[in-house]
Amino acid sequence: MAPEQYRLFDDLDGHEQVVACADERSGLRAYIAIHSTALGPSLGGTRFHPYPDSGAALRDALNLARGMSYKAAIAGLGLGGGKAVIIGDAKKDKTEELFRAFGRYVDSLNGLYITAEDIGTGTEDMEIVHHETRWVTGLPPESGGGGDPSPVTAFGTLQGIKAAVQHLGNDSLKGQSVAIQGLGSVGFNLARFLRDEGAKVFGTDIDPETNARAREELGVEIVPLDEILEVECDVVAPCALGAVINDESIPKLRCRIVAGAANNQLKEDRHGQELHDRGILYAPDYVINAGGLINVYNELVGYNREVAMRMARGIFGNMARLFEISRAQSIPTYLAADRLAEERIARVKGIGSKHWVRTVRRRAAEL
Ligand code: NAD
Repeated sequence: MAPEQYRLFDDLDGHEQVVACADERSGLRAYIAIHSTALGPSLGGTRFHPYPDSGAALRDALNLARGMSYKAAIAGLGLGGGKAVIIGDAKKDKTEELFRAFGRYVDSLNGLYITAEDIGTGTEDMEIVHHETRWVTGLPPESGGGGDPSPVTAFGTLQGIKAAVQHLGNDSLKGQSVAIQGLGSVGFNLARFLRDEGAKVFGTDIDPETNARAREELGVEIVPLDEILEVECDVVAPCALGAVINDESIPKLRCRIVAGAANNQLKEDRHGQELHDRGILYAPDYVINAGGLINVYNELVGYNREVAMRMARGIFGNMARLFEISRAQSIPTYLAADRLAEERIARVKGIGSKHWVRTVRRRAAEL
């Protein structure tokens, strides 16, 4: 193992706990990283990915777990952050034995870590994990879950866009133009919400049928795939891929705001600084797309779609507050978000969130 990887094991980068999972019979090799349980049980999905080595897998688990803590903290939820990564090829290596072995590791943490689906895993895999542990969420409605979180995510994203537009002096979305990259589960719902608010919507998807449906059902003006980030508009809403805000795309942007649901939109942090320097208002991805996590959280405390939507409405206020901090302190919005999350976690740490931990655990146990 390279020295850098030893360093990672020596210093868990502020995380509370990391579990290395190895099961010879099923071939399971995984890490579960718990960044923080200060605000409540740690929650985060299980990623299935062919990492080149265990160091890369551990690093990803640590980064993703921290991201989940920050997302829950800013959304005001009683949850901490955790994440699991399974090393393997999702197309070839998934077996029932493997997910059962993984479920037993999750179970051994007794609710300190609650898992869900993520890239490379689906609800069918989580149903297998559920055979071994109750600490799983994001299950289909027939298994006690809340169903597709995308409408809640799209509604939360709409709130973030509204807050951004308002921060720049417009009280309404009427007449504002938004270019959506990716018209999938979230993007399509977002396009509908925007249309209902009187916004002009541009969009694109790699799937021609999706484009046709968006044009016919919602009146979305479809633009070529490679032109969506360059559309002259008020808001660019990335709702497909990560790392789309990078050295190549930034000089081509002709919008005032970047606000969409995709995860990890900034290729590197410095791209958040560059948007700030150019006067483009960036809605930090993990703040604006917290609707999915809010939905899952509601499963744990007793699912009700209306309550989930109401909580997602709170993204407006969270975002408005961040924009104010960014303006007052002259710092990029992504940094304002990280600081706000760190402050909340530090404030509560040590005081304990035992009531929430108990409530969430009790509800999860009933699922
Ligand atoms: P999805 O797979 O349903 O939709 C993504 C869409 O993007 C697909 O229709 C796909 O064809 C399209 N696409 C892929 N590459 C593209 C490209 N180069 N240009 C244009 N379109 C492209 O996924 P989703 O659930 O809508 O999620 C969208 C993004 O939001 C993802 O980054 C996801 O991680 C993030 N997110 C989703 C949720 C949720 O509740 N679904 C929650 C939080 C974050």
